[in-house]
Amino acid sequence: MDNKLISLVLPCYNEEAVIKTTLDVLAEKMKEYQFDNYEIVLVDDGSKDKTLELITSYAEKDSKIKVVSFASNKGQQVAFYAGMCYCSGEGVILMDADLQDPPECIPEMYRLWQEEGYHVVYGKRAQRQGESFLKKWTASLFYRTLNFLSYTSLPEDVGEFRLMDRVIVDIVINIEEKNRFNRALVAYLGFKQTELLFERPERFAGETKFGWKEMIGLAKDGLFSFSYAPITIIQFLGVFALFLSGVLLIYTIMSRFTGHYSEGWSSLMIVITFFGGAMLFALGIIGEYIARIHTEVVKRPLFITAKTVNLQNHKLPEYMAQFIGKNNQNLK
Ligand code: UDP
Ligand code: MG
Repeated sequence: MDNKLISLVLPCYNEEAVIKTTLDVLAEKMKEYQFDNYEIVLVDDGSKDKTLELITSYAEKDSKIKVVSFASNKGQQVAFYAGMCYCSGEGVILMDADLQDPPECIPEMYRLWQEEGYHVVYGKRAQRQGESFLKKWTASLFYRTLNFLSYTSLPEDVGEFRLMDRVIVDIVINIEEKNRFNRALVAYLGFKQTELLFERPERFAGETKFGWKEMIGLAKDGLFSFSYAPITIIQFLGVFALFLSGVLLIYTIMSRFTGHYSEGWSSLMIVITFFGGAMLFALGIIGEYIARIHTEVVKRPLFITAKTVNLQNHKLPEYMAQFIGKNNQNLK
């Protein structure tokens, strides 16, 4: 089929157990669907196992496979960002390296994009197999809470699996934001977006890299980068505290005159510790925003490319290109 160039972007972090199968399945499926015009951009996110060797050997045999390798681990969000910077497709599909984002969705995503004119087709998880009740419940709570608090409306049960038109990708890669939360950023951009329901299978090998720490990090990026609700909440708490202390003041003065006066050491301690805690909590929330302002201001690069394969002449967005000098590519 004479299709438009599609880029499949896959972040890989310690994926030696799955990457071979994934690449074989993808090649097979693309052939089956008669998509000849495609590339696979694999972003090695500073893996410590044999992932880089494996994908490099694949890329050396097949020029459709391109490799970007980070100098250190930067997380899935940044890996997707780098993949978007290095891909050339008219349509760009972000998917995990473990086949949990089924390639079977690609033809329908392509159709919705080309025939119905959608700029973004995101995969919506209809079912999650093999995940614990707790993970499903926390994920559901996360999407709903974030949507409620966020100033941009975020589709629920949607991960990064999606097809995006080049128009969207070009905007996204030129946004210099450091605390990246791609799905919210894309939702924020607008244009014509639609969903495609899919059943999320289990990871067929290897382990999840998303433990509690990573999940909390992602939730914080979503919350503090796309919502001012935490600030509003502490403002309300502040007003409430002022009101409460006013009431306490009046009560204390009145009890002085009515004679019901007690030493009140313990109640005093309760009030002091309560408001001390509330104030530290509030400062912590403000601190989150300040930390984010700090990372934006220092303008460090999001990732450093240590090596590329089949991508030597690729042009990066200006802001990332400045960090990659002539001699900085293909370090051994
Ligand atoms: N990943 C990454 N960097 C990381 C963690 C994960 O590039 O620091 C990649 C990983 O290789 C996979 C995708 O992100 O392709 C999703 O990770 P995983 O399958 O562990 O997450 P889950 O599906 O359990 O949410
Ligand atoms: Mg997975």
